Amino acid sequence: MNKILGLHHITAIAGDAQRNYDFYTKTLGFRMVKRTVNFDDPQTYHFYFGDEVGSPGTILTFFPWANVRQGKNGAGMATEIGYSVPKGSLDFWKARLKKFNTRHEILSERFGEKYIALQDPDGLWLSLIEAKQKDERNGYETAEIKADVAIKGFHTVTLTLNDVKATAAILTEVFGYKQIAQEGNLDRYQTDAVENAAIVDLLEMPQAQRGLNAGGTNHHVAFRVKDEETLMAFREKIAARGLQITGKINRDYFFSLYFREPGGVLFEIATDNPGFATDETIENLGSSLQLPDQYKAMRDKIEKGLPELQTK
Ligand code: ZN
Repeated sequence: MNKILGLHHITAIAGDAQRNYDFYTKTLGFRMVKRTVNFDDPQTYHFYFGDEVGSPGTILTFFPWANVRQGKNGAGMATEIGYSVPKGSLDFWKARLKKFNTRHEILSERFGEKYIALQDPDGLWLSLIEAKQKDERNGYETAEIKADVAIKGFHTVTLTLNDVKATAAILTEVFGYKQIAQEGNLDRYQTDAVENAAIVDLLEMPQAQRGLNAGGTNHHVAFRVKDEETLMAFREKIAARGLQITGKINRDYFFSLYFREPGGVLFEIATDNPGFATDETIENLGSSLQLPDQYKAMRDKIEKGLPELQTK
């Protein structure tokens, strides 16, 4: 399909690597599907958390920087990452967030869907949503989080913007999304190319200050395409609108393009191929540090420079 297939991954900035690992694998119960380094800064980890096989549309990634300054949500960034959870599971999650002292808000409702908003240990806003739409994806199971409550993958991402118009035009005219609902200053857009991870919410706040991109904030939002041919077709369409866009970049697990959409959010488009099972088997995903070819000869030095990670 020559279309944008919803969300591929979302990337954010964290502080302490161990705290980040513990929260996402233990409190929320994701699988770490890849442990590598920031390809542009190999002294920093790049963690990928998702479902069992690292399906696109489930992947939240982090660059953990130990002494990062605190960021601030604001205009021109993704300010909330929404996950889909099974119907009837929010009581379980409410109790679990309380038990782990995770900052969270009371149960609310938006677009007819119940959800709980919460913050990760660095202050990143997430939400757990009982989706109206059918979601047959299976969440990753852990000893404490079984399939009937496990987080399934992305539901939506919320972008805060001073003016939604130009961003909405990218979604509808280039990415094939349609506006399906509106609540106050929140507009909901959805693609019918996929069943899940198909929604983007645009929150218009004309007076909001620009966000500060540091700890506890989003870095970029990656949309999904099937292959490199589709990727490059989108490159043409975006460049034709007069927007700056990078060339194709090899991220080892996918091929990518980056551009800043007119509202200020850094967008990426990423391919399904080759996926995460290229340098380790599905069974072993995330179990050891993987390095791209250019850093393989420096493994000892890189490992010594990275904080130790307790994964048991
Ligand atoms: Zn990315």
